[in-house]
Amino acid sequence: MSVWQTYRSTIHRNCKDPEVRQNSLAYWRNHLFSATLAFIIPLALIAVVPGVFVAYQSGLIPIIIVDLAAIIIIFSIAFLPGINVHTRKILFTISLYSVSVTLLYYLGLFGPGLLYLLALSVFIIFIFDYHYAIASVAVNAFICIFFGLIIYFSWGESVLVEQYTLNTWAAVTSNLIFLNIVSALLIPKLFNGLQLAISNQEKLTRRLEEKQENLETSMKLLKAKNEELEDFAYTASHDLKEPLRMVKSFLGLLEKKYKDKLDEKANQYIHFAVDGADRMQHLIEDLLEYSRVGRYSAKFSTVPAQKLVETAVKNLQTQIEESGAIIQTDENLPELYIAESEIVRVFQNLISNAIKFRKDAQNPVITIGGESNNRYQTIWVKDNGIGIKPDKTDEIFDIFKRLHSHEQYPGTGIGLAICRKIVERHQGSIRAESEEGKGSTFILTFRSNQ
Ligand code: ADP
Repeated sequence: MSVWQTYRSTIHRNCKDPEVRQNSLAYWRNHLFSATLAFIIPLALIAVVPGVFVAYQSGLIPIIIVDLAAIIIIFSIAFLPGINVHTRKILFTISLYSVSVTLLYYLGLFGPGLLYLLALSVFIIFIFDYHYAIASVAVNAFICIFFGLIIYFSWGESVLVEQYTLNTWAAVTSNLIFLNIVSALLIPKLFNGLQLAISNQEKLTRRLEEKQENLETSMKLLKAKNEELEDFAYTASHDLKEPLRMVKSFLGLLEKKYKDKLDEKANQYIHFAVDGADRMQHLIEDLLEYSRVGRYSAKFSTVPAQKLVETAVKNLQTQIEESGAIIQTDENLPELYIAESEIVRVFQNLISNAIKFRKDAQNPVITIGGESNNRYQTIWVKDNGIGIKPDKTDEIFDIFKRLHSHEQYPGTGIGLAICRKIVERHQGSIRAESEEGKGSTFILTFRSNQ
């Protein structure tokens, strides 16, 4: 810290009232007082040195004594610890009143006494509250009347007695009191306005903080509920696997052993039951996979998107061959910082959907492209399939949301929900653009600086 900074922070610390709220009007009044002290100490030399010099030449020793005493008091107010701010301000005001009165008494018209009185009363309005502004008018009026009496009765050795008659003194000082009253009445209006603005702002900030707190509590609650729900989904689907496996295997046995002994209807019932058990198994497996996303911390690394797509394509080889799908991949796909197995899963789901939701008479053609800039990396999977109504492109990412019956297209409605959960876990986003009958494009966006 520089010398000036240390000097300022010492004064600031002494003039700080711990009970005053930061940024309130009282806080800024104290701040102004501390800044005034900090500047007045070095700057006072400009007024004091020539003043003391001339006073010495003229033999006006009381002026020298009062000036020096005022400087010592101001110095003490600034640096002595353990005095409360209000007392410091009062001492400061008294010392400046003493200087003004002394200058007025000994120098009269030639001295800056009256000027100091006016400046001091304005300064009082700034550093004290409203009542002190009125008091400053009373003090100035008292000083002017007192000097009026000195002039009238020719008391002491004041030069005022020679310079003024009572009438001229009354004319000059009534102007001083007039200016004093005007400033005492009007300047506080400005402060009242400021006070109102500050307290309104504080109210708003407090309300905002409350809202923020409420929001944070709700978010925490929501997070906890979500985790609870996911735990439930995970445990339920995990525990359902075993009994379902038994149901399936005994249904299989029933079908194998009693096929010839049962009538047509009974065989049909068994077939429906096996089909239902199969679908339930898919549902449970998908649900389990959905709740597994994010449950275990996967390893993140930088992988070319090309490699991720190649792995996904390899995993879907049978489906691709059976459907005669054509997969076209751009050469300049970006590199991604991701959990590899999870993003492979996303590509797998998207490519598999592109094949599943193909048009009857067409081979699926799937194009995978991408681009990147400083901020985002984008990859899209585009197909020539049946498409989606534009107003449905958001809801298909909700869990269990399907736009077709199981008879039209098999599925569980969990695949895209898994994709969204994975991508959001990577702080990315996924969306679809489509029109019915005109193919769909699924767009993944990741932040570049990951
Ligand atoms: P599932 O494929 O098991 O039905 P998804 O969550 O993967 O579940 O998809 C949800 C729904 O979104 C699908 O049922 C389908 O209606 C629609 N959809 C997804 N991908 C495509 C696509 N490529 N083209 C047309 N519709 C699609």
